[in-house]
Amino acid sequence: MQKLIQGLHKFQSEICISHQDLFRSLAKGQSPEALLITCSDSRINPSLITQTQPGDLFILRNAGNIVPPYGAGSGGEAATIEFAVAHLGVKHIIVCGHTHCGAMRGLLEPSGLEGLPAVKSWLQHAELTRRLVLENYREVEGSARLTVTVEENVLAQIENLRTHPTVRARLARGELSLYAWVYKIESGQVFQYEHESGQYAQICETAPPSALPERSPLRRVF
Ligand code: ZN
Repeated sequence: MQKLIQGLHKFQSEICISHQDLFRSLAKGQSPEALLITCSDSRINPSLITQTQPGDLFILRNAGNIVPPYGAGSGGEAATIEFAVAHLGVKHIIVCGHTHCGAMRGLLEPSGLEGLPAVKSWLQHAELTRRLVLENYREVEGSARLTVTVEENVLAQIENLRTHPTVRARLARGELSLYAWVYKIESGQVFQYEHESGQYAQICETAPPSALPERSPLRRVF
């Protein structure tokens, strides 16, 4: 806890002072460009990996970067998405999974979830992911199986995202773009799903983020 208190002190005495204008303007309101949906995992720092400032990203986090289909969840996910899209008018929604995801490991190995009934129940929203991996990646094992589960889950959650009326309506008007990302913890690289190739490819300055087509982002299984 001491580390957190020292951090608070440093933030208030150094960062707040050097960024005074930014924080004063943020006190008047927010206008984030994107909604980022990612895992609660402590190893992901959205602002750090995207080098963004307070006010740039509206962030939704939970175990497994899961988006319950509209009407299926009793949590705050639907409210957060609705607020970001309909009220704040974000232009982009990114679902960002990550390598070594404990939630996705739990999805693959439910026996490890004994004693975690809430997690087990929550992961039911990723049943599409589990079924896709079970039926289409029988030959993939070990860490590669976990990685492919992470990748498929991001796409499955994008499918769920499309069931939300505010998202659907803005997509139809061409006012919203969706992106599927996977963050690789060990290298800091971010990969995006490219619909044309059916593969994830690294995002770099020469290959900027490309939005998914309006319909059917499901991965081509080779
Ligand atoms: Zn995770």
